[in-house]
Amino acid sequence: MIKNIALVAHDKKKPEIIAWAKRHQDKLIKHNLYGTGTTGKLIKEAVPGLDITPLKSGPLGGDQQLGAMICEGKLDILFFIIDPMTPQPHDVDIKALLRLSTMYNCVVACNFATADFVIESPLFEEPQVHATDFSEYADRSI
Ligand code: PGA
Repeated sequence: MIKNIALVAHDKKKPEIIAWAKRHQDKLIKHNLYGTGTTGKLIKEAVPGLDITPLKSGPLGGDQQLGAMICEGKLDILFFIIDPMTPQPHDVDIKALLRLSTMYNCVVACNFATADFVIESPLFEEPQVHATDFSEYADRSI
């Protein structure tokens, strides 16, 4: 089952996500890949076999683009490797993306231990249901 998968890493985590993508390229290559601008470009240069659709750079709106994809049910898995030790100019966008991915039940990995669990899971190749129960928000327009 082909999934839509996004790859994002904050600056100090970029060398690690490149190595991680290289290590898992056999699995990633079977899916539709998206990346925030810089992360996507660097992975593509290092692992040319991976066809990554570039979005805007994270601080320039890429996180918001991913949030929109999640709202529209167009993203299955988000590898969102955060640097917890460096202040980010787009902190509000990061929080918004994590909020929406939680709300819409999107699979999210914020560190490499979780990223390994997700990509090694037998569920990784299974069809995915974005089952979110919005009945408690019935008074809202969805
Ligand atoms: P980038 O964005 O891939 O363009 O660096 C990621 C981020 O820092 O949010």
